[in-house]
Amino acid sequence: MRDLAELGVWDDPAIRGALSWYLDVAENRRPAKFRIAATIATQLDPGASSEDALWAELDRLMPAFIARWLAIRAGASLPQPADGPSLLELCRELAYRMLAHCNFCPWNCRVDRMAGTKFGACKLASGSRVSSHFHHTGEELFYRGTQGSGTIFFTSCNMRCAFCQNGDISTDKDNGEATEPRTLATMAWTLRHEGCHNINWVGGEVVIHLHTIVDAIALLGRDFTPTAAERKRARKTKADPFFWFDAAPSAATYEGNFNAPMLWNSNFFMTPESMKILRVLTDVWLPDFKFGPGRCAMMLAKTPWYWETVTRNVALLAEWGEDFSIRHLVMPNHVECCTYPVLEWIAEHMPATPVNVMAQFHPDNFCDPAGAKYRDRYAEIARRPTQTELDDSWRHARELGLKFETATFES
Ligand code: SF4
Repeated sequence: MRDLAELGVWDDPAIRGALSWYLDVAENRRPAKFRIAATIATQLDPGASSEDALWAELDRLMPAFIARWLAIRAGASLPQPADGPSLLELCRELAYRMLAHCNFCPWNCRVDRMAGTKFGACKLASGSRVSSHFHHTGEELFYRGTQGSGTIFFTSCNMRCAFCQNGDISTDKDNGEATEPRTLATMAWTLRHEGCHNINWVGGEVVIHLHTIVDAIALLGRDFTPTAAERKRARKTKADPFFWFDAAPSAATYEGNFNAPMLWNSNFFMTPESMKILRVLTDVWLPDFKFGPGRCAMMLAKTPWYWETVTRNVALLAEWGEDFSIRHLVMPNHVECCTYPVLEWIAEHMPATPVNVMAQFHPDNFCDPAGAKYRDRYAEIARRPTQTELDDSWRHARELGLKFETATFES
């Protein structure tokens, strides 16, 4: 069965209400936002304009973009792409301008990653590395569907979670393969042509690779077709090459052009500028909301400004009318300081949002007592959550009236 829409998960009104745009794009009943962006012409030559002028142009074009997106949601047809530069190329140019004084995330390192002589908290220059890409069958049912979520795992991170469940990817910046935008676009193109329901950008953290991802999406929005050499290069990180996936071009196009929902799967530790660019390109968002408002983000992830950054960014999604669901990982000994405040904030600000209150925390990275990297100072989280901690978390979510049961317990 290929049809995502046939799954019973959509019978839950909370899921259908929160993710209807995503489902329409996944089923190719609507064009993805990057295709809409390609129809909004800019009067600027992006490469020849100042960064201030580019931001001003983005602000000028956004109302037209949002109006077109809403009209297409309501059933209007997609206009022809702009002949010259469009909102898509504007976003691409802005991402590269930001890279030259990097402010992708709140570390605001201001290093020139194009020059690559000084490094910020993510330790990256301009290159991006992909650790693996594959049909992910472990995401929430509405994302993994029947054919998997087309997941592309990037290397490195802008946070330092001691318990990182992907520590090999997030803490080793040299993991994986150097990946140019055309190779990245090839990975996305291939996964979608193999039937994946979405393109799932994830890490480590993805915002630190904003320029490469936006560049790849801009290619996909301009009728990109990979060459045989590019497909061979992309296969280096394909983690499921031995499985046979039928090519399903009809599952990958809208009116004959490449189409796929873009899923932004992120720690949400990013700046308003990054959010503005992503608003144009992202069809469905998946914030990972980990820590409460106290010192836990500093103690466990060496990350300042966590609560104010993530709550601001998630609140923007609701204000913008975006499709999204939230993840929260229950951590041992952090139910009262992290789980409860996170759930209470969601209940107060966006009670209809689907939430996955996850049980799969396991001691890993610096809090795994059996690992070489273990540090005693993380002893408090060096175990799995108890059943009581999980039950207390789910009970609190239920008492708050959160829409969490489908995302948390579906199988
Ligand atoms: S992505 Fe964040 S951590 Fe990395 S250089 Fe830019 S601002 Fe610094």
